[in-house]
Amino acid sequence: MSGFNESDFDRVNRLIEKNKNLSKSGGFGSLNSSDCFSSSVSSPNSVSSDLSLRKDFVYDRVVSGTIFLGENPDIISGNIYIENGIIVDIEERPVKSDNWIAPRFVNTHTHIGDSLLKDPPLGNEHGFCIEKDLDALVKPPNGLKHKFLSQIGFDESVDAMESAVWELFLNGVGVFADFREGGLEGTVALLKAVSNTGKDIFPFVFGRPGHVYGIGSNDHPNMDFLEEVRDILEVADGIGLSGANDLDDYVLTKITSKTHLKRKKLAIHAGEKDRSDIKEALALSPDLLIHMTHANDLDLKKAADLQIPVSVCVRSNLTTGVGLPPVLKMLKSGISVSIGTDNMMLNSPDMFEEMHFISRLYGLSDHHVFKMATSNGAKTLGCGFTGSIDIGKKADLIVLNSKSLNLKNVQDPLAGFVRRACKDDILGIV
Ligand SMILES: [Zn+2]
Repeated sequence: MSGFNESDFDRVNRLIEKNKNLSKSGGFGSLNSSDCFSSSVSSPNSVSSDLSLRKDFVYDRVVSGTIFLGENPDIISGNIYIENGIIVDIEERPVKSDNWIAPRFVNTHTHIGDSLLKDPPLGNEHGFCIEKDLDALVKPPNGLKHKFLSQIGFDESVDAMESAVWELFLNGVGVFADFREGGLEGTVALLKAVSNTGKDIFPFVFGRPGHVYGIGSNDHPNMDFLEEVRDILEVADGIGLSGANDLDDYVLTKITSKTHLKRKKLAIHAGEKDRSDIKEALALSPDLLIHMTHANDLDLKKAADLQIPVSVCVRSNLTTGVGLPPVLKMLKSGISVSIGTDNMMLNSPDMFEEMHFISRLYGLSDHHVFKMATSNGAKTLGCGFTGSIDIGKKADLIVLNSKSLNLKNVQDPLAGFVRRACKDDILGIV
C-alpha cells in the first residue's frame, strides 16, 4: 500500500482505539449505542429546577439560553450543565441570554472524497438548458467522479477531505455518514483527515471495496474482493455500495453476509435515477437505503416492513435532475427518514439548506423536519449518544445568535431554526 506512512497508521489506530473505548462507555462507534444512554435519558418532565442540587458542584461547562429540549423538542429557557462532554443536568429557569441551543446535526449521507471536484458540468448544454446525466457524473467505474478520484494521490485526497470535515463541523454537523470510495486506503484517508482537524466530529464510515467496480465484467469474482471487504470492515463502520445494478448478485450477497457477520452496517443507493435497482437492494435487507427517489408504494411498504431507514438527499436530487423523493409517503409508511447532503462535488454539506428545501417542498411540520435532521439520523446509524439535547447524552450543541440580522424578531425559535437559520447565525459549536 502506498501513499501513507507508519505514523499515519499510528494516528488512525489511536483514533480507532479511542472510538472503541468510547463505545464501551456508551459513546461513539457502537452499533448498539442507541441503547447505551437509555436508562439515564430523562423525559422533558424530569428537567431539574432545584438549584440546591448543584450548589456544591463545579461543572466543566454551563450553556445558557433557549434550549431545544428532547427529540420532539420542547422550547424552554434554562441552563445545560456539562461534565466530561456529557449533559449531566438541564435546569429550566428564566435566563438572560439571546442564544438558541440546538443539537448538532446528523448528516446521514455524504461523499466528501469528491470535494476536489466541486461543481462539475452536470451534462451537455442545449441552448439555455443542460441535459443532466447522472451516470456520466458518478456511476462507477467510468463516471467523471471516479476517473478523477483515480488520478489524485493520498495526500491530496486527505487535504481536500480535511477542508470538507471543517466545513461539516462549522455547519453544525456532529455526525456524518460517508460513502468512502477507494477501498481500505480511502477509509484510512478519511479517518486521517478527521484526525488532522482535531475537531470533535464523528465520521461514520461506509467503506467500499475498490476493485469490484474496476474489474472487467467477464471476470468471475474471486476471493480477493472479500479479503478487501474484511480489511475495510476492520476499520470502517460498514460498507456503502453504489447500487444493486453495478455489481452481480454473487458479489452483492457475499459483501452483505460478510458485513452483517462482522455486525457492521450495510448501506446502498437505491432508486435514485429510476426504480430498476430497488427490488435487488431491498432483497439484501440493508441497514440503510439512500435516495429511494423513484420508490413506489410497494417499495415503501417493503422497506417499512423490513424497518429499513431511508436517507433522502433532496438538494442533490434537484441538482442532478432525477426528481424528488416521496418523503410524505415514506413518513406515512412508517419509515424513519433522515437527511443527507450527498456528494460534496454537487452540494455544500449544509443541513440548514436541506431543512429549508424540505420544509418548503413538502409542507412538513417544523417538528418533523427537525427530527429528520437530528434524532432520526442518530437512531439510523446507531449513534443514540447524540441527536437530541437530553440528560445523559453527549453535549453536541449548536449555539445560535437569535439577535442576528437574520434571526432577529423570529417569534417561534423552532420555526426560525428549521426555515430560516443558517451557518452565519452560529455563535459556537459545543
Ligand atoms: Zn450518494
